[in-house]
Amino acid sequence: MSDVTHRHFETIWFPFTKGTIPQLPIFIKKAKGSRLYDVSGKEYIDAISSWWVNIFGHAYPPIVEAIQRQAMDLPHVAMADFFHEKAIEVANGILNLKPGFKKVFFSDDGSTSVEVALKLSIQYWQACGINKIKIFSLENAYHGDTFGAMAASSPSVFNENFKSLTFQNIVLPLPNQNNLPEIYSKIESHLSADTAMVFIFEPLVQGAGGMQMYEALYLDKLLNFFKQFHSILIADEVMTGFYRTGKLFATDYLQTQVDMLCLSKGLTGGFLPLGLTLINHKISEKFTTNTGETLPVFYHGHSYTGNALACSAAAVTIKHIQNDSVKNAVKNIANFWQNTAIPLLKNLKIVANLRQTGTIIAFEWLVNQNNYLHPVSFELKKFFMQNGIYCRPLGNTLYFMPPYCITNDELQKILEVTLKKVEATA
Ligand SMILES: *Cc1c(COP(=O)(O)O)cnc(C)c1O
Repeated sequence: MSDVTHRHFETIWFPFTKGTIPQLPIFIKKAKGSRLYDVSGKEYIDAISSWWVNIFGHAYPPIVEAIQRQAMDLPHVAMADFFHEKAIEVANGILNLKPGFKKVFFSDDGSTSVEVALKLSIQYWQACGINKIKIFSLENAYHGDTFGAMAASSPSVFNENFKSLTFQNIVLPLPNQNNLPEIYSKIESHLSADTAMVFIFEPLVQGAGGMQMYEALYLDKLLNFFKQFHSILIADEVMTGFYRTGKLFATDYLQTQVDMLCLSKGLTGGFLPLGLTLINHKISEKFTTNTGETLPVFYHGHSYTGNALACSAAAVTIKHIQNDSVKNAVKNIANFWQNTAIPLLKNLKIVANLRQTGTIIAFEWLVNQNNYLHPVSFELKKFFMQNGIYCRPLGNTLYFMPPYCITNDELQKILEVTLKKVEATA
């Protein structure tokens, strides 16, 4: 079916899309490594890891095999009454990879891993006898599209229709070397004896909010400030986890230990949806230690909680993620951005705010306004797609975040097409 027409996809309601049909929908037939292949045989380099989920490359053979084996033995069983080998492997494995946590709660995706962390925070404080809870977030924060995740996010086009119906959050500026005193007084203005605080943040790189990057040093100071008041700290590492930022977790750049950590996206290597919320002793203890009072029940679960197929994929990720080949690949991508791409891009007039953390490079295409809905987004995407590169600019923010299997030739091609577009625009 190479002559794809409108009627072939008009029954599908596409996400984040005006009129339910996206611009340039492409009929994809196959994906392998860093490449996507459409029905006409055209190839695309997947320069954004299929919305940031694909870390090892498409159809990574060890995960294909793990899922095949698991599907024959045990595809799924209700987690409320049963557990299974792959759930144990994932829970123990992730707690080994990321010390400082005690328990793992399974859910379905990034948004639900955030919902779990938020609901647990609220219930934790209730169990401490505190009902007035203030949720703090950072500007540009994106924590997902479900209601709690939207509530905790910064106001944006993603949530503007619903924000008035969600719980209120307090939005803080991104911490930098100048604004900490101002942020501290804003936080203090919300403090009172009967109030508890929760702070949720994307460490180092904020994804959907425009690939904003900020320094660990100032984030650490802010976290420490919150800690003084026994606030609950939630790191949303849904995007940054699994070496995206150059370290295994973005929170590995921090000194401060958080209370909960959310994971999804790269967790299954881009095969299946799965969310994890890592929970520390302080939080889990309230739900597990009988202090004479009645124990709170965390009433949360999904039909597919702890799905064995998704866990079988995640178990491979956990096993392979610290291989030298992965670390070297991550280093190679970061080196390419630093040593080859940035020197060529940094002095171009159209490139603003060029930044890079680990495998992620981003910059603004200089137009008259910075805006997610800016039409240059479509123009850029069209150009890259025509040139065999899948990217999806966030408004006028162009970024690349390739799977770790990408080759230097492919990185070079991404850079060449970028430069070609600069030339065509100048
Ligand atoms: C993508 C993302 C989410 C939401 O994850 P979904 O799997 O899309 O629900 C939450 N937080 C961050 C930081 C994300 O990048």
